[in-house]
Amino acid sequence: MPEVVCHVLLCETADGVVLVDSGLGRHDIADPKRMGPARFVMRPNRDDARTAIGQIEARGFAASDVQHIVLTHMDFDHIGGLADFPEATVHTTADEYDWAVVNPDFTARRRYSLKPLSHGPRIQTHAGPGEQWRYGLRGIEVLPGITYLPMPGHTKGHAAVAVESPDRDLLVHAGDAAFDVTSYSPTLPSGTSVSKSRSLRAIETFAAVDRKQVIANHTTLRRLNEEAGVTVFTAHDKRILDDLLGS
Ligand SMILES: [Zn+2]
Repeated sequence: MPEVVCHVLLCETADGVVLVDSGLGRHDIADPKRMGPARFVMRPNRDDARTAIGQIEARGFAASDVQHIVLTHMDFDHIGGLADFPEATVHTTADEYDWAVVNPDFTARRRYSLKPLSHGPRIQTHAGPGEQWRYGLRGIEVLPGITYLPMPGHTKGHAAVAVESPDRDLLVHAGDAAFDVTSYSPTLPSGTSVSKSRSLRAIETFAAVDRKQVIANHTTLRRLNEEAGVTVFTAHDKRILDDLLGS
């Protein structure tokens, strides 16, 4: 098992601080059983300084500054930290919320832990298929400058989140639409070459609900990443996070 990260993107916007995903949170550290059996395989790091709330506080923000959390999907490693930001509105695609919470089938009931929602956050769902966006893709506007790009395959309602940024034009948090960066790019954002990660690809295959759609998403991400000014990154490939932090 490679070391993986749960990449949370913090955006300072006119609507307050917006997070894309929440990673694991303080409640998971206090009670790892919340994560379900996956914790034995994933062996999460229980260092508070690695949680989104720990890092946000270290940067001088308060939990109450976080007004919105935009989820790529609802697996436990993306929603575990929601309760650390009780005032935030939680955004999800309607398809994901429906499969995970409203009408879960057998697979969904086994897959999702809904304990991270037990604090009763305000939920805002976003129904597709969305409007014509850029680059021939459809998008669903979540907040000004923040757009869902539906990419089901990892889960039924998974979406990448595109964020307009003054520094890099467009950041695309691809969530779990790809695990290994080389599925869509031979290089990291800085241009450094990387090698294929068989272990990340194995996790991707294991966790997918529709592998054909996963492959199609890689093609879309490759095309997006090749556009000038667009930086695509994924939730779990640590090499990308390290590269972005170093650049
Ligand atoms: Zn994940």
